[in-house]
Amino acid sequence: MKYIDEYRDEQIARSLAARIARQVTHPWSLMEICGGQTHTIMRYGLDELLPSAIRLVHGPGCPVCVTPLEVVDKAIEIASRPDVTFTSYGDMLRVPGSRSDLFRVKAAGGDVRIVYSPMDAVKLARAMPDRRVVFFGIGFETTAPPNAMAVWEARRTGLTNFSMLVSHVLVPPAIRLLLETPGSQVNGFIAPGHVCTVMGYWQYEQLCRDFHVPIVVGGFEPADLLEAVSMLVAQLENGRAEVENQYVRSVCREGNLPAQRIVEEVFTICDRKWRGIGVIPQSGLALREEFAAYDAEGIFAVSGVTADEPAECISAAVLQGLKRPTDCPAFGIRCMPENPMGAPMVSAEGACAAYYHYRRHTATEVIQ
Ligand code: SF4
Repeated sequence: MKYIDEYRDEQIARSLAARIARQVTHPWSLMEICGGQTHTIMRYGLDELLPSAIRLVHGPGCPVCVTPLEVVDKAIEIASRPDVTFTSYGDMLRVPGSRSDLFRVKAAGGDVRIVYSPMDAVKLARAMPDRRVVFFGIGFETTAPPNAMAVWEARRTGLTNFSMLVSHVLVPPAIRLLLETPGSQVNGFIAPGHVCTVMGYWQYEQLCRDFHVPIVVGGFEPADLLEAVSMLVAQLENGRAEVENQYVRSVCREGNLPAQRIVEEVFTICDRKWRGIGVIPQSGLALREEFAAYDAEGIFAVSGVTADEPAECISAAVLQGLKRPTDCPAFGIRCMPENPMGAPMVSAEGACAAYYHYRRHTATEVIQ
């Protein structure tokens, strides 16, 4: 296959689903880690194409969803300062903090701007030497290299009015936690192809050995995901537990070594709190000591900010694959994309938003 349309071809999707139906002899629960994969599954009705023995559960791989409430509050506090120009990818602006969100800060006169790259924020800092420009650096291993590059470039060019509010998270420690969680029923994982494009997949091999669970690196199109499911089912039915790579057009075992080098140079591994889940040891990235001059949390002294989740929101269970969004009593009633109570309803990659947008679709209607 050469073009994107072929990965969305109905006949290919149906033949992969038929292959899975022939393979399955036991019930299996499979988790796709990434929110982008969740959206493809819901949008194209892939869960409805699969035999009933295959249960897809949705993982914590939405960077907006797992950014803790207090980090959003810290961003709001920094962005509200009159001397600050606060920059972020657009999807963070609507994420509710405890009392407000970044859009409201902007509406109240704060200088909050959407950028498409952290290097745009560096350019802004260079163009506005009298402003303190802050970039909201969140996400998984995928966004870590450009964020590291921006900080590295700021230091290289002696920029003193640029900083970053960092809340980076790492996928393998989260999978480990999910597997260690009592009651976890996940039999196999679809690992996120974009994360593995950067980091490779060698880190996942230890998880397979420790927990005897298969992991397949998967892409984001319907045929990618169905093929990844088929590869997982083949392993499970044969008692194997290995890392396999479905997303060969983008991922190799070692990953992108120059990207990994810049991440290692600028960031260090730290314990990190995940929204709805809590602190996962060694699951985040923080700026190294030598880059402390670019750490917005220290510069603006917001490290003491804390916040509690709305009591009704069950996003913790949703993010761990223990419950579905439709199990939440607020889903579609008090919590909707226009008026979200929790981050999984805000983000384009959130599981609750995916269920809300695509829940009425059937497989017949959506496979093109
Ligand atoms: S539907 Fe809303 S309130 Fe319920 S878990 Fe999802 S984000 Fe939280």
